[in-house]
Amino acid sequence: MEFLSQLTGCFSTPAAGNPTVAMVEAAYQHHNLNYRYINCEVAQPDLADAVLGARAMGWRGFNLSIPHKVAVIDQLDEIAKSAGIIGAVNCVRSDKGRLVGENTDGVGFVDSLDGVTQIKGARLVILGAGGAARAIAVEMALAGADEVTIVNRSVKKGEALATLIRDQTTARADFIAWTDSLRVPDGTDILVNATSIGFFPDAGVPAVDFDSLDPGTVVADVIVNPRDTPFLSRARKKGCRTLDGHGMLVNQAVRGIAHWTGVSVDGAVMRAKLAEIFG
Ligand code: NDP
Repeated sequence: MEFLSQLTGCFSTPAAGNPTVAMVEAAYQHHNLNYRYINCEVAQPDLADAVLGARAMGWRGFNLSIPHKVAVIDQLDEIAKSAGIIGAVNCVRSDKGRLVGENTDGVGFVDSLDGVTQIKGARLVILGAGGAARAIAVEMALAGADEVTIVNRSVKKGEALATLIRDQTTARADFIAWTDSLRVPDGTDILVNATSIGFFPDAGVPAVDFDSLDPGTVVADVIVNPRDTPFLSRARKKGCRTLDGHGMLVNQAVRGIAHWTGVSVDGAVMRAKLAEIFG
């Protein structure tokens, strides 16, 4: 019997409430895993010391929230391929003391499409070009999406992401400057809101011409609070299948926990915990 729990957690700043703690701990308890997941508020200048602390205490791994996702790269021994392309690490795992940086955000999104629609050959349109959009664009392209269209307000960031996809993956990529209500391109298989528009208390809806939406398009949102955003309900009214941001959040945690413990946990347990928190 091992009395000492294995340590995992999240380095975040500022601590605006971290729903992943309750979610991951619920999975540990459900599967009887002798692990703990601790949220630590780490100021930007202290990140290197925090990583050293995690090494010293033998942490099995940890997540990082903004702004640590990029800065942590310098503190690690190795970066996984897709995290290197994305240029951000949201999950670190200890491989016999060597700290390896992974990005589980985008692959969490990919996993949430499992059984919903095919990724291979798909045409994907992403609203946004920030961290979430980058992770989704790269992982979807690596998973076989044929074409990725980035739609973003800032032209520089949007073009840079489209260029990254063209240069680093086999997918085709283009960019649309988001100045007006977006006419969804014909043949779009998957449309994702990867902006922060709609995150509580903002009740905004991304500027999309919903009349241009084909009912065959799968529409997804990365927003976790509220779970069911006005963007998704508008898409459902057009007959589209929708995916909320809890799927991506849960699946990135399933991936992270597998990295730390070797156990593939039941995502439904974490989804239920999120529903308890967010309603
Ligand atoms: P970033 O700040 O990196 O990017 C924000 C993006 O939203 C940018 O593309 C920005 O455009 C765009 N944006 C913001 N406001 C507007 C607006 N009013 N009009 C048009 N575009 C706008 O944030 P992240 O990518 O890290 O996070 C985005 C969202 O994804 C957050 O709500 C976050 O909580 C969520 N998220 C969810 C995850 C999940 O597991 N479900 C995982 C990770 C993130 P511009 O470049 O022009 O400024």
